[in-house]
Amino acid sequence: MFWRGFLLVVCDVCGLRGARVFQAYSGLRLCGECFVESVRSRVWGEVERWGLIEPGDSVLLAVSGGKDSYVMLESLALRYKASRLIGLSIIEGIPGYNREDDVRALVDFAKGYGVDVVVVSVRDYVGLSVYEMVREARSRGLVESACTFCGLSRRHIMDYYARMLGASKVATAHNLDDEVQTLVINMLRGDVIGVVKVHPLSPHPEGGVRRVKPLRKVYEWETAAYAMLRGFRFQETECMFIEENPTLRAKVRIALYDLEREHPGSLLRLLEYFDKTLQDAIKKVEPKGSTSTCSRCGALTTQGRGLCKLCELLERAGLTEPRYTRLRLSVKR
Ligand SMILES: [Zn+2]
Ligand SMILES: [Zn+2]
Repeated sequence: MFWRGFLLVVCDVCGLRGARVFQAYSGLRLCGECFVESVRSRVWGEVERWGLIEPGDSVLLAVSGGKDSYVMLESLALRYKASRLIGLSIIEGIPGYNREDDVRALVDFAKGYGVDVVVVSVRDYVGLSVYEMVREARSRGLVESACTFCGLSRRHIMDYYARMLGASKVATAHNLDDEVQTLVINMLRGDVIGVVKVHPLSPHPEGGVRRVKPLRKVYEWETAAYAMLRGFRFQETECMFIEENPTLRAKVRIALYDLEREHPGSLLRLLEYFDKTLQDAIKKVEPKGSTSTCSRCGALTTQGRGLCKLCELLERAGLTEPRYTRLRLSVKR
């Protein structure tokens, strides 16, 4: 819980300043400084615990204009040399969402820490924005959720830039809520591979650049409180496609909120339980076979696939020559 006003309660940690945040799961009332510090140290602790950033790594930070991105950028920039970090911001091209001015604010913010941000639009990369892809696909009778077009495009772009820029890891700003939702959804679907993929030590079957999630132990409300306390100018608009169909994720999200409200710390304990239970077993999971390259664009894909997932999806939508095929992804890893 975040208190906007000043209250006559002293911070449980420093005992000096007024408390501004009540961290229900720890029972602590914290001042702004101590709260921000508690978030940062959790991020750094998680990064070190799982080797999310190791000596010699250079990390591509997938960032948007949202609060989570700001928190990830700042907490990592305070710990790691700016020369090892580079931002990548993808403009999806969804009306009202992640606009260029939101991204510009983020680019300036990153610059303040010496971190460069590459800005690329889905439209420049694919040839159509996410909105246009969905419209095109629907006009041809292909019913595929907007999130599929968006997710696959973003992934393609991230992999391309990671390889082109020589990054050894891609960090995304998924928070604790996102991770537990994904975990529960995969469990409800009986998707064991999906469950395993949530673990920070999971193997990377497709041979791509390893993805890491430094904010995996930070609640979403905490990234919001952090961003407000630090005065970040982040975008708050939600994607227009989120309302389109009540997905399983939306239902799981509500159920988990209720659980967390009644039993603070549930999400944190659930992910911790999962981390520990799978820690030893996951080391024995062999990375799945070899990889091959997409015959159309050259991106890495699982063995036996002619086309990568994005090329395949776009073909079904009637797009056989996306712009990125001219880039040919034969960049060395
Ligand atoms: Zn304090
Ligand atoms: Zn392809």
